[in-house]
Amino acid sequence: MIKDKVIIITGASAGIGEATAKLLASKGAKVVLGARREEKLKRIVDEIKQAGGQSISQVLDVTRQEDNERIVRLARDTFGRVDAILLNAGLMPNSPLSALKTDEWHQMVDVNIKGVLNGVAAVLPLFVAQKSGHVIAVSSVAGLKAYPGGAVYGGTKWFVRDFMEVLRMESAMEGTNIRTATLYPAAINTELLSTFSDKASLEQMQGIYDQYGISPDRVAEVVAFAIDLPDDTTVNEFTIGPANQPW
Ligand code: NDP
Repeated sequence: MIKDKVIIITGASAGIGEATAKLLASKGAKVVLGARREEKLKRIVDEIKQAGGQSISQVLDVTRQEDNERIVRLARDTFGRVDAILLNAGLMPNSPLSALKTDEWHQMVDVNIKGVLNGVAAVLPLFVAQKSGHVIAVSSVAGLKAYPGGAVYGGTKWFVRDFMEVLRMESAMEGTNIRTATLYPAAINTELLSTFSDKASLEQMQGIYDQYGISPDRVAEVVAFAIDLPDDTTVNEFTIGPANQPW
């Protein structure tokens, strides 16, 4: 059931997060949106409300633990509970290691890894106490296979895969009924390529997206499917991509 579920979405100001927020709200969920760009969040909340949905937002930088705790509190104070969190915020400034873009390496570790840790740390005490909850994380096909230019990005996404699998196992062992789902998208047309600073890597990746990219609405459908399953069922992994992309 999606209706009336309270769902926090990180990285909700664009792309997959925005599409998922709108779809879940259209199915009756109460969506709590977080990202750094306030104007974008406000516009999306307005659009959801105009369409008859329920939504609020908070400026959230997932690298800041206190921001993550604040958005969980906001969800609880506004809607009374939290049922799911979509850990979606991320960036992909790919480049060859020899380019030594070390600031970007650290930024990816901070957002793609530590952002996931911070989100889980913020929500887990609540999920454990209420003995229910759903943690959904966006990894990538880059978390399933290595490719040149994606050493650090891929590494952050491999981390998500391992972390989520252990979360699933431990939650089952501890009897907390926490469900997990990890998404492995391939080429999805969003703002993701805007963070590239390495021109050659961007051109190569842009070619792939121009050839194959599909709408983030497709990923939103998968999130909705996972949340809609009965509470006793976890579908732990989804690889989602264009039907014609070999990836
Ligand atoms: P977008 O660039 O369109 O969206 C990224 C979102 O993350 C934005 O809302 C951005 O908002 C937010 N974000 C970035 N940094 C932070 C931060 N520090 N704190 C909070 N929010 C942040 O890309 P996608 O929708 O494609 O990306 C969503 C996820 O999907 C990412 O984890 C990405 O790695 C993954 N993914 C995407 C694929 C694709 O082909 N598009 C393929 C595989 C995985 P703001 O700038 O306002 O903070």
